[in-house]
Amino acid sequence: MLTLEKFSLGVGDRFAHQAKAQLRACQLLSEKGVDVAPVWNKSHREHSFIGSEPGSVLAAAQQAVETLNWKKGWHVDADHIRLETVDRFIPASDFFTLDVADSIGKPASPDAVEDFLGRHPELIGALEIPQIQSPFHTTREQVRKIAEKFLLAVQDAGKLYRHIAEKKGADNLIAEISMDETDTPQTPPELLVILAAIADEGIPVQTIAPKFTGRFNKGVDYEGDLVQFEKEFHEDLAVIAFAVARYGLPANLKLSVHSGSDKFSLYPIIRRTLPKFGAGLHIKTAGTTWLEELIGLAEAGGPALALATEIYAEAMEHVEELTAPYASVIDIDRSKLPSGVEVAAWSSAQFTGALRHDQSHPLFNPSLRQLLHVAFKLAAKKGARYLDLLKANEEIVGRNVTANLYERHLIPLFLERAQASQPAAVC
Ligand SMILES: [Zn+2]
Repeated sequence: MLTLEKFSLGVGDRFAHQAKAQLRACQLLSEKGVDVAPVWNKSHREHSFIGSEPGSVLAAAQQAVETLNWKKGWHVDADHIRLETVDRFIPASDFFTLDVADSIGKPASPDAVEDFLGRHPELIGALEIPQIQSPFHTTREQVRKIAEKFLLAVQDAGKLYRHIAEKKGADNLIAEISMDETDTPQTPPELLVILAAIADEGIPVQTIAPKFTGRFNKGVDYEGDLVQFEKEFHEDLAVIAFAVARYGLPANLKLSVHSGSDKFSLYPIIRRTLPKFGAGLHIKTAGTTWLEELIGLAEAGGPALALATEIYAEAMEHVEELTAPYASVIDIDRSKLPSGVEVAAWSSAQFTGALRHDQSHPLFNPSLRQLLHVAFKLAAKKGARYLDLLKANEEIVGRNVTANLYERHLIPLFLERAQASQPAAVC
């Protein structure tokens, strides 16, 4: 079976120009002794906005891998696909994020729920799980409720998985199940029931993306209770380790954190919790790269800066339209958004200061950053003008893309503090 590496990083490359710069970040980390496999992900929705095909993601990745002579693992993720959207992804992808969040809460047949309860008496009562202090106490009624909420979603994941496996060959794909794009987080006891159901369904799932508590706003840091997150993350890992042993799920099954980019305050928690379980991690931080393109263009000045400020001005004219689909994952304070006219007069330093994710920078503006995070389709509409400026400024844009992933993401997640304090050798 195609096996996902222990550590993997979900990167997005919306305009298919940064694969090399992204891979360079993984290469720098590899030189420090930690291997993280890049996984280039792009969803149906992103392809629709950009007007691209899944094959372009594979082509860009392959070219980067060849150019940098990368001999380690890498993958192409058909991100958040469903039965209706998966087919065109099958030839070009080897990683499939099976999105079944829409089926959560829709009832499975009463017979299926009854069968599930009959098969899993171990889930009812007091359940001791190694490394969880107090046992889970559940009644049959509670487990029934959880099964009613999630069983149909897992059955749908099974259908989708078998559909892909039939066309691609079960040995040629990595399956992730994602439940993050829904309203309420899944608790660790719910995750256990979900994993039992996934095992029943026969899906060799290698990563699972639950929804965690707290706000995962686009492109900015986590908003929520860090103590609660740490407890939940720890318990999720304990539940996964338990379920792998109990239900025979793949031994490399790991958590996938769909971070919405840049959840920096979670990184120390993740880094100290994973070793307690010898656990791996898939972490997606996709949209951050598109913002680095804008930062690089702004830094370049001249026509590139002019385009960046123009995109901002257009975003201001379409705030409602751009933000509506992301209402649950952005918190923009409209009073903090400068006008398009004001930004048109900004210098490179003002634009990059406001946009770059450096929370200690006096100009950093999280509202502006979130707005631009969801504004990538405006860049897509610029077509060749945007892409030509990316090409003309490849060096400066690439430097920002690499430095962002390496210094702000990979080092805090995967390197020890002692190593992280050394100056990073990017370029
Ligand atoms: Zn997601």
